[in-house]
Amino acid sequence: MSSQPIAYIDLAALQHNFMRVKQLAPRSKIMSVIKANAYGHGMVEVANALQLSDAFAVARLSEGVRLRQAGITHPIVLLEGIHSVSDLHSAADNQLSLVFNNHKQISLLDDVTLATPLTFCWVMIETGMHRLGFAEADIDHVVNFVSNNANISGAPGLMSHFANSDLVGDKRNQQQLAILSQCAQQLNLDTSMANSAAILSYPDSQGDWVRPGIMLYGSSPFASQTALELDLKPVMTLTSAITAIKTIKCGDQVGYGGDWIADKTTLIGIVSIGYGDGYSRHLSNHGQVLIDDSVVNVLGRVSMDMIAIDLSNCTEVEIGDEVILWGIDTVSIDHIAQQAGTISYELLCQLTERVPRVYKHG
Ligand SMILES: *Cc1c(COP(=O)(O)O)cnc(C)c1O
Repeated sequence: MSSQPIAYIDLAALQHNFMRVKQLAPRSKIMSVIKANAYGHGMVEVANALQLSDAFAVARLSEGVRLRQAGITHPIVLLEGIHSVSDLHSAADNQLSLVFNNHKQISLLDDVTLATPLTFCWVMIETGMHRLGFAEADIDHVVNFVSNNANISGAPGLMSHFANSDLVGDKRNQQQLAILSQCAQQLNLDTSMANSAAILSYPDSQGDWVRPGIMLYGSSPFASQTALELDLKPVMTLTSAITAIKTIKCGDQVGYGGDWIADKTTLIGIVSIGYGDGYSRHLSNHGQVLIDDSVVNVLGRVSMDMIAIDLSNCTEVEIGDEVILWGIDTVSIDHIAQQAGTISYELLCQLTERVPRVYKHG
């Protein structure tokens, strides 16, 4: 039994969630989104476990290069695209595929002659997110330019991104999809629009390529439906252990700032996990952990390396006993994220390198 935090990564659960995507979007190809270290789960291990993906998507060039260095041979799409001529060379050298989001990015194509042209590229169309992408009126011209550029092989696909896909039935989703569909039809291009929430709740948006992220990791994109209800299995279980147990008196404070004060004699446990591991400080006095089948409260502020928990109802607990910070049913990542006032995406991405990932194969 380790006395340090460990994130167990269940690759069979990951593969189960991938098969859910296949079931839900049987006519689409799957571009598994593994940016930000695969939402904290380990990008290379996740890519290797998701061999059935038709492609991978990451945000940045550095992420794509790392995947190639690790021997991943699938098509890899850089969602942010590239920002300089040297990026463009590096993308070509590593056979990475680009999303073009603005005029600056396509103009770089005129500044180079790449040894091998880029394949499987995408043009981002602005449909309502107002973050990245070309205006609808420019798409004709941009697609023509990219299609005819010697540095690009083949026609690009047309990509966009929902701003409100977690709001099921919201008519802004239909409006965004209508813009993409109309442009793609006129120009006879492949489409890619659906993230996890859209894959699960808006089949009409699935198009030629879907881009699942969070659902692969077993979290629900919806506030009103749990991962369990969606038949998604949690991939990460974050554990640590009790490193000290003590009884404190009525009136004693716990941790920095005295944000929690005992109102009676209380048994408390100290657990080796803190914001230095990515355990959110917003869980101070709010979070719950699982120990011995009991859900117990975090007492006082989260420190860099440890937290205090209430053991009043767990008097059998001993030093070294395992504590689950998030992962399974009563402490699902979605539930803990809610306690921290954030979303699962953030908690998962924030888990630091100090926490070893231990992989369980199917
Ligand atoms: C991150 C991302 C996704 C995946 O979104 P989820 O909500 O995690 O499924 C899809 N497309 C783009 C452009 C993204 O940036």
